[in-house]
Parts: sequence; structure tokens; C-alpha cells
Amino acid sequence: MDCVICGKQVVNENNRLQKKVKDYLRTTSELDVKHLWIKQWKICYDCSELYTNDNLVDNSEVLQKIEEQKQRKKQLGKAKRKQGPVGEARAYYIERYIDYATCKAEENGRYIAKPARLINSQQYDEAYITYVKSSASTAVLIVRDMAEDIDTKGKWIDVRHLEKRFLSHHEGDFSFIIVELFSRKQKPTYPKKMAVETDSEYKNRIAYITWQTATADIHNQRTQGIKGDIYIVLPSLKNEHENMYDKHYITWDSRHHHFKRVRESNQYVNILKPPKWGYDIVATKKINHQQLRYIEKNLFQIISKTHKKSGITLSMFSPQKKKETASKLKKGLKKESN
Ligand SMILES: [Zn+2]
Repeated sequence: MDCVICGKQVVNENNRLQKKVKDYLRTTSELDVKHLWIKQWKICYDCSELYTNDNLVDNSEVLQKIEEQKQRKKQLGKAKRKQGPVGEARAYYIERYIDYATCKAEENGRYIAKPARLINSQQYDEAYITYVKSSASTAVLIVRDMAEDIDTKGKWIDVRHLEKRFLSHHEGDFSFIIVELFSRKQKPTYPKKMAVETDSEYKNRIAYITWQTATADIHNQRTQGIKGDIYIVLPSLKNEHENMYDKHYITWDSRHHHFKRVRESNQYVNILKPPKWGYDIVATKKINHQQLRYIEKNLFQIISKTHKKSGITLSMFSPQKKKETASKLKKGLKKESN
């Protein structure tokens, strides 16, 4: 307790103070204000010596001091409440904030490739809706935008095989992609933007028309027996924000009893940055249709090979040369050179 007059903390004075009360009670049956306050630890020993009961009750100077002390206490309490809990309680609330913010950051980075938003006012094919939401549309973007060795200009990209990485939790984490590229024989005719249309609505419509043309063109070429160039692409999903942190400035929200993020504060915690997904292209290779047939025939064995090793290599997609035949070949070459 602090003394209501001088503000000094009343400690280790109990015996001396309580003796005063006892002594006073010897002479009278009822406590006056001063001795009542002493009993309640409201004033310190020094102040109990300094003031008489009349001083405490009527003296305007003392009353003002008491008022000032009250105000000071009130403000201190306010400041304390603003700062929030201390010690273990503080650690507990901060830990909860970190959990919450980390969870939120992970959620923000959950989508590797955000699916295009389909605008409701437009009519789409069921097949298009399925395509936009599928991994195939992500795979097309990887091949088109990231595989620099593959020239996709003026081509349609048709996904022949798409394999999710074994045991990966991420939707867009592929161990390999095989695509066939077809020349664009049909050109989509793009309508003009309508006055009532927003930019994103127009973009949506254009994307849909492109997809319709591509699908029809590829189907048409396939039925004519036209074969496109085949590529294997080995992508590797990476989080560009791996092990990076953001400073979250926090302040105590006394109303809701938690720490909350603010723009500026003198205290902060480090929170993992929301993941930012990208791809490294590990390898690309153009293969012929005979090689594609080998892969399709042995797809299950190839996939099980990719499950066993962490690094996927192009050699997994071609038949393994037996040592014997290799050494025979060498011998043969030697003979020839002799
Ligand atoms: Zn005092």
C-alpha cells in the first residue's frame, strides 16, 4: 500500500503503526480518522507523526495532497493497463499472438498459384471450370513462364502427364510435367471490350475464348494425326520467403485482453513471413514420341522410382542401360578401332 498523503510505500512499518492504534484505543473506544487510516495502512509512519486527526480531516493543504496522490495513482494504473500484463502472463499472451500470427501468415501463403477468379455473370463450360481449378492450369503456367529452354511462342501447351510430388502437402508441388506443344493453327478472335464490362471481366472472357480455341485446335490436330513436340520438365517448388521474418509491432489491447498488431510501437515480435511460392526448373528435355511411349508404358515404375529418391533426374525417364551391354559395346568399339 502507498501512503495517501506522500505516496511512500508503507512497508515494514506495521508493528510501529499497529502499536500506535493499540495505544490510541487504550484511551478511547472509537478510532478517529487518522488512526483508522493507520490501521488500514493508508498513511505511513512519518505522516502519522506529522499530522493530527484535525489536520487530516479539515486541513485543505492535506486534502489537496491526498487528491493529488489519488490522481497520480489513477494515471499510473492507466499506464500499466496500457502496457499490458507483465512477467509470465505477458509471455503467455505474446506466445498466443505469435501462434495466431504465424497461422495467419501460413494461411496467406497457402495457394501456390491462385486460381483465376471466374466471374459469375459469364457462362462457362463445365470443362473450363474444371480446368481453371485443376493443377493442369498451374503446370501450363510453369512451362509457359518459367521453363526458359522451351520456346512456347505461338504454341498451345497440352499437359500429357502431371505428377504430384510424393508425400508433398502442396497442391502445386509437381515432381514432373510432360507437355506436348502444338502450333496455333486456329487463331482466337477476340471481341472488343464492352462498355459494361470491367477490366477483369474482359480479361476473364478473353482467357475463356483462348481456352476454347486451344481445346478445339488441339483436338482437331490430334484427330488429323498431327503430333507435337514433347518435353519433360522437372520443376522444384520453393518458398522464396523461407526462413524470413517480419517485425510485427504490437500493443496491448486492454479491452479484448490480447496483443494486437499496430503500425508503430516500441515493442515487436518476429513472425515468419507468409510463404511466397516460386519454381526452380531443375531440368527440361525434349523427347520424341517413341520415348513418350516408353514412359507411358512404364509410367508406374518411373513414378515409383521418383518416390525412392529425393532428387528426380531425367535418367529416370529412359531405359537403364545394362552394364553388360555397355561393356559389350565398348569391346565392340575396341575391335572396330583395331
Ligand atoms: Zn506518508
